[in-house]
Amino acid sequence: MDLLIRQTVYDIMLAAARRVAPLEACGLLAGREGHATTCYELVNADGSSEHYSMRPEEQFAAAKDMRAKGQKLLAIWHSHPASPARMSDEDLRLAYTPGVVYVILSLVRPEAPDVRGFVLDEGVAKEVPVTVAEAHDGSARGAEAGPSDSRARA
Ligand SMILES: [Zn+2]
Repeated sequence: MDLLIRQTVYDIMLAAARRVAPLEACGLLAGREGHATTCYELVNADGSSEHYSMRPEEQFAAAKDMRAKGQKLLAIWHSHPASPARMSDEDLRLAYTPGVVYVILSLVRPEAPDVRGFVLDEGVAKEVPVTVAEAHDGSARGAEAGPSDSRARA
């Protein structure tokens, strides 16, 4: 279960992680066939630097937007402002959505952010390849921001 993240989507995720740090940022990635083309930034309801939770109403709004776009939830992402891109015990405990990649973006080395993806296999986190790439369909379209994107609210 590889995940391809469009460069512009990755840029939105990274900008959110840097803006929210030292707290954890979180959100969702959607698209088709393992190719993430939409980034949703959701509020970290925990307001914590070590864990996160998403508000159900924001998740529902994002899911509705995905359906309208004909896209699927591919990944649940969050940032680790001060720890490596690995699933923490808390992350493992809270990872119960089947069929999605858990993406962690680490800012431990600010100049070299590290992005990794994991799937849960009977409670064990297994790393899957995550690639950040320009749109390969030749289109120049940028990332689509969901209604939960903070810039859309501003
Ligand atoms: Zn975490």
